[in-house]
Amino acid sequence: MPMIIKCHGARGSIPVSGPEYLKYGGDTTCLEIRTQNDEVIIVDAGSGIRRLGNQLMDEGKHHYHLIFTHSHLDHILGFPFFRPIYHRDVTIHLMGCPTTQGNIQKLLSKAMSAPLFPVQFDALQATIDYDVECRFDFQIDDMKIFPINLNHPNGGMGYKFVEGGKSFVFLTDNELGGQHRNGRSFEAYADFSKDADLLIHDSEYTRDEYGVTKGWGHSTYPEALKLAQKAHVKAFGLFHHNQNRSDKDLDMIVEECRSLNEDRHISMDCFALTQTTTLTL
Ligand SMILES: [Zn+2]
Ligand SMILES: [Zn+2]
Repeated sequence: MPMIIKCHGARGSIPVSGPEYLKYGGDTTCLEIRTQNDEVIIVDAGSGIRRLGNQLMDEGKHHYHLIFTHSHLDHILGFPFFRPIYHRDVTIHLMGCPTTQGNIQKLLSKAMSAPLFPVQFDALQATIDYDVECRFDFQIDDMKIFPINLNHPNGGMGYKFVEGGKSFVFLTDNELGGQHRNGRSFEAYADFSKDADLLIHDSEYTRDEYGVTKGWGHSTYPEALKLAQKAHVKAFGLFHHNQNRSDKDLDMIVEECRSLNEDRHISMDCFALTQTTTLTL
């Protein structure tokens, strides 16, 4: 079986809805990765995890690994609406690293406590195992996972997933050229992404917007494309779409990225993630 990556939410900062968002969707970050042995790895619990939870329950899958990029609200707000947590026969291996993103189980239990939420974290039915060690790399099934610090306010982790000779790099909420604590250089991210079969990167802003939003922890799409080009990745997915970016706007950005590649005779596939994109490596 190949590595399968499904996106259940590609929007940044806040979920959105309305006729201008039908193609790319309004749910915030949630990825589902299946290893070759069909183990389920979930990255982030943005609002997209609600639909993923329903899908997993329908499928009868009751065992997952949950990892987080960081603990900003748009990446954890879907957790209380992830249906499997209310089922006794579900096991979740929650993988966190306290020095980079705060103690994730404490943050989740804070989010599910009075007066913020009616159901308490302690009342969850699923078995949740915590693994809070920080490692240089770890393995789930035959898939190797390499973390890297993000350039983002309050920190965070990006990940490279490698299995069966294929590699997928996921860098969301990453300000290329930014100056956040523990952040790495453009060259370090290019090195980390080198020759990846797929790179999904934060492409939240236009150059114009960045005049105001510099320092907020996100990249412009031309800068993200530059990283993809420098790293010679085979495919590049734009991600963490700004809350005000309509389907039409995103289509135009994708067109621009493709023509920038053509101008330089680069054959890389360029696209924007939707909340139903499935990719097979
Ligand atoms: Zn975010
Ligand atoms: Zn963030």
